[in-house]
Amino acid sequence: MNESEETGIMIRALLTIDDVPSKNTPAIVDYLNEKGIQAIMFAVGKRLEAQPEPAVYALRHGMILGNHSYSHPGFSALGMKKCIEEIETCEKVLDGIYRAAGGERKYRPFRFPYGDKGGNNKPELQKYLAGKGFHKVKDTQIAFPWWKEKGLDSDIDTFWTFDFMEYRIRPGSGFTLEDVWKRIHDGNPTSGGALLSENSNHLLLLHAHDETEAMVPEYYRLFIDRLLANGVVFDKPEFVTVTA
Ligand SMILES: [Zn+2]
Repeated sequence: MNESEETGIMIRALLTIDDVPSKNTPAIVDYLNEKGIQAIMFAVGKRLEAQPEPAVYALRHGMILGNHSYSHPGFSALGMKKCIEEIETCEKVLDGIYRAAGGERKYRPFRFPYGDKGGNNKPELQKYLAGKGFHKVKDTQIAFPWWKEKGLDSDIDTFWTFDFMEYRIRPGSGFTLEDVWKRIHDGNPTSGGALLSENSNHLLLLHAHDETEAMVPEYYRLFIDRLLANGVVFDKPEFVTVTA
């Protein structure tokens, strides 16, 4: 049963998880394997150096690691040289993690921290990513008009159609699990595409923050189980190479 019994809508989604590695990364990987879901995990170079084991574990258990910069800065605040340094330093660390895991690195997806595409440097950065052979995640099935209007269909970096925003659940933040449920079921969200009520593929964004795990144990299981119960089908990541 792949369609939602309530709506008859079939939703396909690709899962991306940001800010790995973390202590709870292996538990997330185990859960995803239990559900047969392969995710792209965007890793921060500094974090990989501090705790490589959870990232090696993710690779050995079928996940794809992508580049999420070395120190997670906002790219529009940086000059071009510093942007490239952030990307290339993370690349080197990622190559080492793939070697440690004994796996071939077939794909090089990239995600800007905060989705900040570099402001005025955006065109140059896109050209750089294409020229260096970074892989664009296949997004031809994303049907939201704004995806094309914003030019996201031609960008090399991996943006998203829906952010769970669960990272906002923090002590005293006033943002709760209830707010995430509202976002999941919101038919007309202020940002991104409606998750459960429109016929479009989705690029989902979740985070691997231990701080969230401390607030809501196994939050990833709660959200993804809810999606699966509502007829969401998870696709294996596919990539296209764009030449500069
Ligand atoms: Zn991030």
